[in-house]
Amino acid sequence: MKNVFNFSAGPAMLPPAVMAQAQQEFVNWGDSGCSIMEVSHRGADFIEIAAQAEQDLRDLMQVPDNYKVLFLQGGGRGQFAAVPLNISTETDTSLHLVSGSWSRGAVAEAAKYNNAKVIGDVVEHNGLQYVPQPAAADIDQRAAYLHFCPNETVDGIAFNWLPDAGDVPLVADMSSTIMSGPVDVSKYGIIYAGAQKNIGPSGLSVVIVREDLVGKARQSTPSIFDYELMANNDSMYNTPPTFSWYLAGLVFKWLKAQGGVAAMASRNQHKADTLYAAIDSSSFYRNNVHPDNRSIMNVPFHLADPALDKLFLEKSQAAGLLALKGHRSVGGMRASIYNAMPIEGIEALVSFMREFEEHHG
Ligand SMILES: *Cc1c(COP(=O)(O)O)cnc(C)c1O
Repeated sequence: MKNVFNFSAGPAMLPPAVMAQAQQEFVNWGDSGCSIMEVSHRGADFIEIAAQAEQDLRDLMQVPDNYKVLFLQGGGRGQFAAVPLNISTETDTSLHLVSGSWSRGAVAEAAKYNNAKVIGDVVEHNGLQYVPQPAAADIDQRAAYLHFCPNETVDGIAFNWLPDAGDVPLVADMSSTIMSGPVDVSKYGIIYAGAQKNIGPSGLSVVIVREDLVGKARQSTPSIFDYELMANNDSMYNTPPTFSWYLAGLVFKWLKAQGGVAAMASRNQHKADTLYAAIDSSSFYRNNVHPDNRSIMNVPFHLADPALDKLFLEKSQAAGLLALKGHRSVGGMRASIYNAMPIEGIEALVSFMREFEEHHG
């Protein structure tokens, strides 16, 4: 097999050690003679896998006891609808900080179910994008919740501060940043994430929800999105995405073996610093996010001459550096460098970028 580094934004690369373990267990799980994909989610084997994955997630993120952890379906976007259905009424206001395309998408979906109000947007100053903090007066204390996206996967914009919302519950879409470093879960009402960036394969979304926000779902909420119903059924009211859940469990074990999320944070910072330094040191490449708001998970960059984009993508792919094409709404390049990306991948990318510049700069 060719040695490649996969910079896909999601579904994204998984730790090679996890893939190897899954492969080894695939046809014969725990000497049972069948695959974990072929057994009932209500059997003892799967229930143990599911419970262990939840416990490992709780350990890794130090989830307080007064939070439920749900393993649901419907991805990140499913939660764009599930959140308003669970914790707001039709006449409630939800507040939204917009920092890029995903948080903008969340507003549009919430607006179907409540009075969604944007209280902050990305600002561009001297060619650099950043996210200003909202004024306290903009945070209506009667609002049902304040939604934001700490890491914008498409735009490469991250928050370096936490909104101060008083008693209004904070709801964070952590799809592309969950477990990349420590977070104080107690500061949030709800944290949710589609799995396919930093947790495991697609098909699963993880929801961490404070208990006082459980049990308020509208009558019209689809059962599979009802936090209370799902919590009361250990996320198995319907058949869960068993393979994704199993694989997420292997990733959690791998994360623990790596030293947990604090160790990941310093590695991720080093990876991102190395890549941004390469971009900043040359006028051939540029990133247009303010240094305070640069994502350490998704690094978009442009070539000074966009006519070279196609060649850059062809040559990088041939060099085993995959999926560097930026999102169609942004253009240019994007390197997604989640937990599973080793520093060797960054080093290979940086040396490719230097070489490309030498030939075409
Ligand atoms: C990928 C992503 C989503 C959408 O996830 P789906 O599983 O495709 O619904 C939502 N929010 C963020 C921040 C993402 O990165």
